Amino acid sequence: MSTPFGQSTVLGYPRIGANRELKRAVEAYWAGGIAAALDRTASTLRAQVWQELRNARLDAIPSNTFSYYDQMLDTAVAVGAVPDRFRRLGLSDLDTYFAMARGVDAEPAMELTKWFDTNYHYLVPEIGPDTAFAADPGKALAEYAEAAALGVTTRPVLVGPATFLLLAKPTGPGHDPFDRLDDLVRTYADLLRALADAGVEWVQLDEPAYAADRTPAQIDALRSAYTKLGELDRRPKIFVATYFGDLGDALPALLGTPVEALGLDLVAGPDNLRRLAGAGPLGGRTIVAGLVDGRNVWRTDLRTAIATGAVVAGLADHVAVSTSCSLLHVPVDLAAETRLDPALHERLAFARQKVEEVVLLGRALRDGSTRLPQPLPPPPACWRDESVRSRLAALTPADRQRGSYPDRAAAQQARLNLPPLPTTTIGSFPQTAELRHARAEHRAGRLDDAGYAARMRAEVEHVIRLQERLGLDVLVHGEPERNDMVQYFGEQLAGFAATEHGWVQSYGSRCVRPPIIHGDVARKAPMTVDWARYAQSLTSRPVKGMLTGPVTILAWSFVRADQPLADTADQVALALRDECRDLEAAGITVIQVDEPALRETLPLRAADQKAYLEWSVGAFRLATGGVADSTQIHTHLCYSEFGEVITAIDALDADVTSIEASRSRMEVLDDLKTIGYARGVGPGIWDIHSPRVPGRDEIGAALRRAVAVVPTDRLWVNPDCGLKTRGYPEVEASLSNLIAAATKLRTG
Ligand code: GLN
Ligand code: ZN
Repeated sequence: MSTPFGQSTVLGYPRIGANRELKRAVEAYWAGGIAAALDRTASTLRAQVWQELRNARLDAIPSNTFSYYDQMLDTAVAVGAVPDRFRRLGLSDLDTYFAMARGVDAEPAMELTKWFDTNYHYLVPEIGPDTAFAADPGKALAEYAEAAALGVTTRPVLVGPATFLLLAKPTGPGHDPFDRLDDLVRTYADLLRALADAGVEWVQLDEPAYAADRTPAQIDALRSAYTKLGELDRRPKIFVATYFGDLGDALPALLGTPVEALGLDLVAGPDNLRRLAGAGPLGGRTIVAGLVDGRNVWRTDLRTAIATGAVVAGLADHVAVSTSCSLLHVPVDLAAETRLDPALHERLAFARQKVEEVVLLGRALRDGSTRLPQPLPPPPACWRDESVRSRLAALTPADRQRGSYPDRAAAQQARLNLPPLPTTTIGSFPQTAELRHARAEHRAGRLDDAGYAARMRAEVEHVIRLQERLGLDVLVHGEPERNDMVQYFGEQLAGFAATEHGWVQSYGSRCVRPPIIHGDVARKAPMTVDWARYAQSLTSRPVKGMLTGPVTILAWSFVRADQPLADTADQVALALRDECRDLEAAGITVIQVDEPALRETLPLRAADQKAYLEWSVGAFRLATGGVADSTQIHTHLCYSEFGEVITAIDALDADVTSIEASRSRMEVLDDLKTIGYARGVGPGIWDIHSPRVPGRDEIGAALRRAVAVVPTDRLWVNPDCGLKTRGYPEVEASLSNLIAAATKLRTG
């Protein structure tokens, strides 16, 4: 007898727990705790999720969406792709797993990188020609059995074989992990057989990589992989879940295979609907319609969603309603937020509320008669800011255009009088336990405002004195007052709201609490000027003002869905523009506007990238375009493989750009030269992601490579990112080596 898919489902659910229980349990284990305690917390969390989903009357419930660290890492284990360098350590399974995630003394961790264009990070599988794939269904089977024991029938979820390999990196040159697809499909066949033998009726295989541009060969390979899996004689029914955008030609390709269900993101990929309509008969296949946005926090417009669902229902025999992607990307429960503005609260839905929406939509599509909640009233008038709107409407291209670079460079040098190869840092200095403690005490009301400000001023003074003593040329105040480079601005700008418990997993045990942009953005008062002015008052050397750029602020927040991102970005940019002017008026001569997220928000498909880069670059230029030619604008980017964004980086028109380069051995400089970049550049020559102190000679060698490409009056000497996660001993030692190397090169 065949079990239908069900009416309503989610592609995945947050696993961190409503109070970040998983974070605490995992970190306690890392700190020397016992595995059994971690295991207990984990199984309690899993049971809670399954019971919650069942009680909400979701009728197709996923499992194997729990993870101690990351679902790609779990999938690597499930297919036997544990690199030998970790197997060799001879650790327990759990410790091998955490060694892959976090590294051990003898072995660096696997690489961590962004999951598509989200703020989630996955561990990059290392696949070589010799990787010995072998099915290890243990975790998926255990979760399935665990749920079954609670009376919940589930659908195990795995990352699909094509996406797994497309996101992997080769273990050596001259090899493409995707070449191993046939082998890996055989291993997936073993996994599917093992699941079938355990009574699993449906399995979910995620193939989000096909929401990005793929070659015809990669699409053919997808078709052939699922044809092979579909033709297995012993297997569960297969649900291929796709998300994050339009599938393009991969949609008809998947429909040409025997898979029983196909999931489409109809929020981020509206074109999927048109392609589905043009795809011809769908047979007995289930279409799983991703109608509820899994990546943003707004309530679904149920009437529009039902209309879309009805179109799908007209095309397919079976329709199930789902979230557009896993709910991993949103906070757990809106009910925990008791301090939000009621007008905002009623517009929001977190994971738990989104499950209710999915269930309601599933019912409405089946019965046609479900009573829907009243539509929302229009947003409160006070969320609109007419003065910001009229400023935006009056902008002209001149507002995004500074003087010519040669004029600016001359005016800046006349004012700053910097030596060749000027030295600086990226902004933050170590966030010591003591500093974090002071911030927590202040938040809890045990340290008053005056006491807190005094503590922070003392820290700024300490950081300034240290930099003077080391001999840096352009100083920073050290950012002791900042919890997070986006949250800090979100807390001070109109149009933003902060949550109390809205945690979202960023990677492993790291969770972030993104602010929510709900209204027009405006600056209520200067945000950083007092700190900068104070820092500058302590020294005769220039102190860099430090701001987070508009694109990064948007990328690390939940954004408005009721206006184009470009407009929200320009509103943020105007607030930053005013801040730049005020910094300038307070005597600050160098201002850095960080844009580490510029590249990670790049749309997955090339066709959408041009428009994105236009508005994102435009917003940066609006933020920085209001200062005098003699004020030096820096920007900082956290990566070195610019690829498709390299011309955009030039277009930012910053006077100085600092970038990550220590791991790419300065190759980035050649790339910049190729496109004709001719302004200041600071290739990070100390990899701050590791506690290792780079030696003078090593830094000197890197600098000499750089000097061969960039003249010394445009080449800056700096670490590759902020120092907040480092300790003072390494910082002092590394900076003093860095400065010694620069001095030596200056004097020849
Ligand atoms: N100015 C920030 C810092 O130094 C930049 C951080 C970042 O690029 N992520 O911490
Ligand atoms: Zn950085």
